[in-house]
Amino acid sequence: MRIDVLTIFPEWFGGPFDVSLLGRAAADGTLDLRVHDLRDWTTDRHRSVDDAPYGGGAGMVMRPDVWFAAAEAVWNDLPASATTGRDAPPPGAAFEVGGTRPRTVLLTPRGVPLTQPLVRELAAEPRLVLCCGRYEGIDERVHEDVATDEVSIGDFVLLGGEVAAAALVEAVVRLLPGVVGNADSPLDESFSNGRLEYPHYTRPLAVRGREVPEILRSGDHGRVEEWRAARAEELTRRRRPDLLEG
Ligand code: SAM
Repeated sequence: MRIDVLTIFPEWFGGPFDVSLLGRAAADGTLDLRVHDLRDWTTDRHRSVDDAPYGGGAGMVMRPDVWFAAAEAVWNDLPASATTGRDAPPPGAAFEVGGTRPRTVLLTPRGVPLTQPLVRELAAEPRLVLCCGRYEGIDERVHEDVATDEVSIGDFVLLGGEVAAAALVEAVVRLLPGVVGNADSPLDESFSNGRLEYPHYTRPLAVRGREVPEILRSGDHGRVEEWRAARAEELTRRRRPDLLEG
């Protein structure tokens, strides 16, 4: 799967994406992650991506012209020079030159919540483009004309979209074939069947006076399954009753 990320902090995506299963997915070609510096599509000497809000108010807003040019170039695999400058088409005029627009997710607290069903849907796409905002956010015309999806990772406000994009990438990539060693794992876990997952235990049998529940040592697979289902149900009812209602 190819994932393009648009950000003003491309360096942010260095370390975390080189290690563990994400690093391996990139190394074996399962994940083709391309991180782009939004400032490559600026045209002024200061490489500005933001400006004061119309109507006044605190903070700065990300400029739509830069976002339109960047998205158009990334969608169509064009160099930055092709969509900026005097000869560039006016914003919104010439998108999707080379074909259909890939699913383009703008990370925003105003978006729909990122849930496991949405992650599954996104993991089935051949390509994703992720747009990371900063400052007060991005000009509304980009929300309307560039994004196919607006997604939030929770009811809180981050400094920028990078953490949210990283969470989305990790959730999506672990569903790609071959990424998680145990093929059953993503099917039998929290949210996959509308429940939180049951508790896990491993060796040692006893630690600081706390023992592993006897039933898990019984060897009776039927009873173990029943116990796990009951624990999952109980945990969900206590912590996330909304999942059961859904
Ligand atoms: N003024 C915006 C608001 O109140 O909705 C918040 C802007 S926030 C400081 C800057 C950027 O961080 C946003 O454009 C978005 O890309 C990202 N961001 C912040 N919180 C987020 C969340 N919960 N989910 C996804 N992205 C988020």
